[in-house]
Amino acid sequence: MTEFVGVGNMVRWVAATGVEAAVAGIAGYVREDFCRWQSFHKTPRTASHTPFGVIELMPTSDSVTYAFKYVNGHPSNPARGFQTVTAFGALADVSNGYPVFLAEMTLLTALRTAAVSAVAAAALARPDSRRLALIGAGSQAEFQALAMRHALGIDRVTAWDTDPAALVKLARNLGPLGFDVTLAGSGREAVRGADVVTTCTADKALATVLPDAWVEPGMHVNAIGGDCPGKTELDPAILRRAGVFVEYTPQTRVEGEIQALGPDFPVTELWEVLTGRRPGRTSAGQVTVFDSVGFAVEDFSALRYLRDAVRGTPWVERIDLVAEPEDPKDLFGMVTAPSPIGA
Ligand code: NAD
Repeated sequence: MTEFVGVGNMVRWVAATGVEAAVAGIAGYVREDFCRWQSFHKTPRTASHTPFGVIELMPTSDSVTYAFKYVNGHPSNPARGFQTVTAFGALADVSNGYPVFLAEMTLLTALRTAAVSAVAAAALARPDSRRLALIGAGSQAEFQALAMRHALGIDRVTAWDTDPAALVKLARNLGPLGFDVTLAGSGREAVRGADVVTTCTADKALATVLPDAWVEPGMHVNAIGGDCPGKTELDPAILRRAGVFVEYTPQTRVEGEIQALGPDFPVTELWEVLTGRRPGRTSAGQVTVFDSVGFAVEDFSALRYLRDAVRGTPWVERIDLVAEPEDPKDLFGMVTAPSPIGA
């Protein structure tokens, strides 16, 4: 039998755990897995692009456990009543290939993306950071705010979105959590004087939601919305004067903010900073950019954390996902002598 966490149980688990605690827990597993980077089989994700959006498959393995995630990215979805990003994923036993754990990952992806932002910000942002500017107030936004509180103690947020309703929703969700939220009248206003800027917009375009002129010395830019060929958020001039940090270089060169800057543009992988192999921020005045696209090892960590967290709780079900004939060579026998209904 395969363990399964569906949406209902995921919601119950997150409600019982707390969003910030869940982000913190996943961040711990991400850090642990990034610090054993060499033990993972890594490959850029496989993307199927269409005029509607992209569908991606993200596999990785540490030789004991295999993981994959299915995720879509359809920026035009909200206008049609659908979400931009949905996902599900699984862990499998490398020794026999059987899937052992299956989970919804729309919520889990928001938690893990926040967790990775937290890990990066804790390593790269100025420790005295006090204010977050959020550009984009959609599905990921609240999770990203909680990530910055976990990483840096930030509880002041200034937000901008081209959709006023998204801003109202953000204030409604973050206010009761103890955030001091200011809704800005423009992106320029949101970013002025901020210590950390998180861009989490969705538009299939080489957009500039953050012009170079807005970026002040010492800012940490957490760029999560540019995650696909032809889909970016930052003025490339920012990247040329910043320290740029990525997850897995071969994937980010295709999908990230650095996609237009050529194969030799210098970047540091986050695991190198976490293991002390290469420096992170080198001065209080340096601009740092985390060019996040989302990488398979992070989903491996999130699934691993969730599996451990729900073990033995009512939030995990057991489902018969894999056909298991008594005689492993007699699969046909299962359909000629089916078990009675309900057996
Ligand atoms: P969403 O569609 O729910 O929200 C995006 C918001 O951006 C919307 O409210 C929209 O009005 C706003 N927006 C669009 N253009 C804007 C602009 N120019 N200025 C200000 N606001 C603007 O999407 P989401 O689920 O919150 O995801 C946000 C982005 O993050 C997407 O691009 C998604 O692909 C990406 N993402 C990345 C990762 C990662 O690991 N890096 C993970 C999940 C999602």
